[in-house]
Amino acid sequence: MSKLSLDRVLQSQGFGTRKYCRALIEDGDVAIYGEVHDKYKTLVETDGLVLTVFDEEWVYREHVYIALYKPSNFECSRKPSHHPGVLTLLPEQFTWRDVQPVGRLDHDTTGLLLMSDDGPFIHAQSSPKRHIPKVYQATTQEPVTQALVDQLLSGVQLHDEPAPLAAQSCVQRGDHQLEIVLEQGKYHQVKRMLAAAGNHCAALHRSQIGGLTLESLGLQEGEWCYLEQAQLDLLV
Ligand code: URA
Repeated sequence: MSKLSLDRVLQSQGFGTRKYCRALIEDGDVAIYGEVHDKYKTLVETDGLVLTVFDEEWVYREHVYIALYKPSNFECSRKPSHHPGVLTLLPEQFTWRDVQPVGRLDHDTTGLLLMSDDGPFIHAQSSPKRHIPKVYQATTQEPVTQALVDQLLSGVQLHDEPAPLAAQSCVQRGDHQLEIVLEQGKYHQVKRMLAAAGNHCAALHRSQIGGLTLESLGLQEGEWCYLEQAQLDLLV
């Protein structure tokens, strides 16, 4: 159980600066369980709190855990340079909350991207020590051969890595289609491994992280949802 003043609650949920949040409250734009409260010092129990701000309901969340179906031509970088950033696909509150992508997908890679404002969670999920398997569907420029599959499974040497990197699993899904499971998250890893094995990645999609599949979330490209505890438990 924890209590916060109403202005702090609003600020923590990403509604803007403390000054702006106080103005919202004093203007009568904020209700708690349907009742307008216009005193920003009002102490509020945050557990299970439901706020209404400008007639829209918000459930209080200490941290947010988000799954986004990333479309192509969006950058994961905090300072995108050539394409819009993935944060532009989320409500503005999440920018104020300092929500960040958990790891990166290339601007032209589509699929499951986790985002959060929980620093330790981001750190733990991104840690190379965790070995969380990630499943990718790669479309190759040259036809897939058994030799390519064998090479990716036995390991390919990337020029800036001390040892060869191998896919945990690699299955041919079509003439130009591979399903690759990686435990590491090195920069451009799928693309560089395919290039090192003599092929080229024409398109890339991430369909799964740990036991969490994009399909199970029912998202369309560009859509996002909150992840609840049962879904977070699958990210191991
Ligand atoms: N590997 C890549 O090459 N790119 C991605 O976006 C993800 C994995």
